[in-house]
Amino acid sequence: MDEFELIRRYFDRKCAASGVVLGIGDDGAILAPSPDMQQVQVIDTLVEGIHFLSQTDPADIAYRAVMVNLSDIAAMGATPRWMTLALTLNEANQQWIEAFSIGLFEAADRYKVTLVGGDTTAGPGITTTISITGEIASGEALLRSGAMVGDGIYVTGTVGDAAGGLYLFECDKSDDELEQRFLRPTPRLEVGKALVGRATAAIDISDGLVGDLNKILVASNVGADLDIESLPISEALASYFDPDQCRRFALTGGDDYELCFTASDVDVVQMSGITRIGTVNDSERLTCRLNNDIVEVDDSGYRHFK
Ligand code: ADP
Ligand code: MG
Repeated sequence: MDEFELIRRYFDRKCAASGVVLGIGDDGAILAPSPDMQQVQVIDTLVEGIHFLSQTDPADIAYRAVMVNLSDIAAMGATPRWMTLALTLNEANQQWIEAFSIGLFEAADRYKVTLVGGDTTAGPGITTTISITGEIASGEALLRSGAMVGDGIYVTGTVGDAAGGLYLFECDKSDDELEQRFLRPTPRLEVGKALVGRATAAIDISDGLVGDLNKILVASNVGADLDIESLPISEALASYFDPDQCRRFALTGGDDYELCFTASDVDVVQMSGITRIGTVNDSERLTCRLNNDIVEVDDSGYRHFK
């Protein structure tokens, strides 16, 4: 099976999605942006051996590759529209490619994003790069740079689950719920859209809460107090790990793809599924506290509670 047969069989799915003037099959796709909207462009690559193990289910690899991009779209407050896929494979294993395409279209259908093109190449190892175009009303995108002194700091969902799931997996134990949080993260697209006009700054948590919150603080030229006790920890995580370890995962474990954002408290008081974890201040640094004691946490790794 050559490159063209492979594309035709697994990726060239006829669809009548809105805004697609010309999809897969020509030298480029032709897309019709909506009037008065700005486009938000994101891209993410997953590399075998670095972002996923060789034996990972290809459907999970594809699904996750779409989700990590959608999470960036969510963090901008945008709506996903179109995606492209660059796939490098060391062999044209049909079973593998079919499973991959099923995971890809499951993700695409669930979040209404249309595959409009890509590139397929042979190379050493498996690499998948997805790029998504989203749309947002002009000037409305959520940036990292708008946090204001006095804002509350919030996160969606629970944090630390993906890191806990990965940890269990690496010890040959496994918990379905936590493992799914790693393999099949949920992009917070609805919350992202609801935050437009409310949040002053936002980011998705891919590298760990402390590291990612720090990016907001630096971009906004502010500092913050973070209350470790208030971190939302899932029952699943708490059932496997002691509170110290749970906090460690929550503070520095990556891959949760929850949103962290800042907002004036009155603007988000009606929203559900969010937890207030701190306050923006003018100190220009992040201070983490547990029962009022200052705790040293850095982005590159957790230093343990003193
Ligand atoms: P070109 O040689 O002009 O770069 P290609 O032969 O690479 O074109 O691709 C032919 C068509 O198939 C293009 O429309 C391209 O976007 C699409 N395509 C290639 N690989 C993929 C893929 N993995 N998924 C979706 N579309 C793909
Ligand atoms: Mg090409």
